[in-house]
Amino acid sequence: MLEILPIPAFKDNYIWLINDGRHAVVVDPGDAGPVFQLLEQSGLTLEAILITHHCHDHIDGVVELISKYPVPVYAPAKEFYDFPHTPVADGDLITLAALDLKLTVMEVPGHTLGHVAYYSQPLLFCGDTLFSCGCGRLHEGTAEQMHQSLQRLAQLPADTLVYCAHEYTLNNLAFALELEPDNLALQKRQQEVIELRTADKPSLPTTIGLELATNPFLRCDNNTIRQSLKLGENTVPAETFRILREMKNNY
Ligand SMILES: [Zn+2]
Repeated sequence: MLEILPIPAFKDNYIWLINDGRHAVVVDPGDAGPVFQLLEQSGLTLEAILITHHCHDHIDGVVELISKYPVPVYAPAKEFYDFPHTPVADGDLITLAALDLKLTVMEVPGHTLGHVAYYSQPLLFCGDTLFSCGCGRLHEGTAEQMHQSLQRLAQLPADTLVYCAHEYTLNNLAFALELEPDNLALQKRQQEVIELRTADKPSLPTTIGLELATNPFLRCDNNTIRQSLKLGENTVPAETFRILREMKNNY
């Protein structure tokens, strides 16, 4: 059985640590310090590092980690990295034998152009693409690209556990509730997340099913959202998405 632990880093990042009690893999180690600390405390052996995209807060711990633990690093083929790594592209299968884990690479451009997600049902590590009740900013890609990437993730099974890289859920929920104040699933989720955050627990993972019911960026064909944005019934979902993403930038 695999266990997924959050390693909080910086203000609101999570470095996810996958482990089977002996071996560990970390996703997006932006800071080596807290990863070293957990590995030493737990006695876990680091086996690999997975990188979703090239933002500093996702990669800045890599060089320090591999200087102590020379493990393979997997990173998107379409981005530049100045540390040794195995480039990965859409459809690639990564076999992590020590953990008996096989992950499929999904290219999900939008936040950055080369952004990838790592998927092994029921686990999804999607970096800064899909957030709980939100989505990543368009640093490099277009709204159309991000919309397509999110649509692709939305087609994964409803019980897929979504491990996003940031704790943005409460802010995202406030934005979503302005668009859909009567959405009961949203109201319930807000209550749950307030309780979790008050207890200093992560609001993650979320699930694809929960996101389909609550995340406005996956609900661009929803009438209430279109009406809140004063958009006509014929507005295509990609255009609704573009407008939503722009509004959220200034929220
Ligand atoms: Zn980023």
